[in-house]
Amino acid sequence: MPRTPSRRTALRGLVAGSAVVIGFDPFTRSWAVTDSGRPLSGVPRLDGTLLTDDASLGADADDFGHIVHRRPAAVLRPGSVRDVVAMVRFCNRHRLPLAPRGQGHGTNGQAQVEGGLIIETGPLSSIGPVRTGSSHVTVGAGAKWSDVAKAAIAHGLTPPVFTDYLELSVGGTLSVGGLGGQSHQSGAQVDNVVELEVVTGAGELLRCSPTRHPDLFHSVLAGLGQCAVIVGATLRLVPAPETVRHYLLPYADLQTFLEDQQLLATEGRFAYLEGQVSADTAGAFNQFAIEAVAYGPPVGDTPDDTALLRGLRYETSGAQITDLGYYDFLDRLAPSVAALKEAGLWAYAHPWLNLVLPGRSTADVAGALLDALTPADLGPGVVLLYPLLREHLHAPLLRMPEDPVPYLFAVLRTTPPEDTATVRRLLNANRSAYEKVQAVGGTQYPVGSVPFQHADWKRHFGPVWKRFAEARKTYDPKGILVPGQGIF
Ligand SMILES: Cc1cc2nc3c(=O)[nH]c(=O)nc-3n(C[C@H](O)[C@H](O)[C@H](O)COP(=O)(O)OP(=O)(O)OC[C@H]3O[C@@H](n4cnc5c(N)ncnc54)[C@H](O)[C@@H]3O)c2cc1C
Repeated sequence: MPRTPSRRTALRGLVAGSAVVIGFDPFTRSWAVTDSGRPLSGVPRLDGTLLTDDASLGADADDFGHIVHRRPAAVLRPGSVRDVVAMVRFCNRHRLPLAPRGQGHGTNGQAQVEGGLIIETGPLSSIGPVRTGSSHVTVGAGAKWSDVAKAAIAHGLTPPVFTDYLELSVGGTLSVGGLGGQSHQSGAQVDNVVELEVVTGAGELLRCSPTRHPDLFHSVLAGLGQCAVIVGATLRLVPAPETVRHYLLPYADLQTFLEDQQLLATEGRFAYLEGQVSADTAGAFNQFAIEAVAYGPPVGDTPDDTALLRGLRYETSGAQITDLGYYDFLDRLAPSVAALKEAGLWAYAHPWLNLVLPGRSTADVAGALLDALTPADLGPGVVLLYPLLREHLHAPLLRMPEDPVPYLFAVLRTTPPEDTATVRRLLNANRSAYEKVQAVGGTQYPVGSVPFQHADWKRHFGPVWKRFAEARKTYDPKGILVPGQGIF
């Protein structure tokens, strides 16, 4: 049963500085807007529901970071793409800020909007049809990657690139980039999109692709929701393996670990390549492990350990080699996520630090940042360090260092949310780490919690800033979309 807001509940926003009240008439199922009590215009009839109850507003005033809390005035649970169009037009007309929300796994309020409208994309979760032998599938923006994977694998197919965690929405990761262990071979998820269906900030429903409204296409992919709401995406598919072989290869020093990763990335020996750093018993972050995966039939031959591991300088005694079903590999985080939820740690604050370092400076910069890291400041989190290949990363708004082999460096901190002094200190530490990385030509991957101002964003987007700002003016002329990113 959809929850129906009471007659008295109201959406409060700002129209040219004056309070707007939107009241719901349960008899006509329509909404009326008043400015100081005077009717302005009706909120459109919807196929879905517009919620203003405490629970819905409270839920969308939070995210995976549990650090920023901005309370929206209303939440749209759309019953159709038509609802998204109608409510974006409504917000555009009344200059109400709005943000789409996929799974709310941002860590810094990116999908939150104070006093505005949240469009939950979850109901827009259609997938397919997927046809055997097809090279693409069209999905709703709210579909989760876990569901897309299952639907594609049933036909022997798969998207080429996955994030480590699958319970993220397609629209959410396409808005940031979508990086994973396959990125050194196939780029980011945004590099594997054939076409998008979007609702611009002006409320226009458009399809865009590299050849159709290309400026819009390139402003939406990794565009942090600033020009349009993605409502659907046509994603590239490739043949899926049935099984994979998973290798965990320990290293005792950073330099050797990085050199072997770089070798593997450039040779493309493995289909998937990542790496982790952990602390020894004395608390020093000096334990490294390459995580690599070779795909089995029908994509590749049965993995040949000798050929795959030739010349690598890992500590052979600690190596772990495991065969897995393909989906079990993709969904490998599910058991640890269940354990974190069980232990209450999923609800901890996550002041995440996600940076991209130029390969040439990775040993120095990552080394210095790891030297300064303490187990207490990581908490029950993880440190990731793995290479990407610049030649496969084409989306202009996914900012990468000028280096053929950039490294993703992520300190996925987890800390009690009630200790706000520590959270603040970690946010400051993130900022200072970002500045060190920026000074050597690195950047941030904007899914974490690095305090960022307008001037930082201009610098972040650098040579593409002007085009991005122009696209924002064209497609969201009233500047209502996704204020939580703090870009414009
Ligand atoms: C446990 C975990 C693991 C992760 N692993 C990875 C990883 O391996 N690789 C990686 O690249 N990232 C990873 N991330 C980061 C993740 O990709 C981003 O935070 C992503 O934006 C989250 O998707 P979401 O559906 O929760 O989006 P939300 O948090 O709901 O939204 C994120 C931003 O995108 C905007 N947005 C959402 N939907 C749309 C839409 N349809 N149209 C336009 N804008 C939209 C929102 O307004 C907001 O600004 C991880 C995050 C978590 C919490």
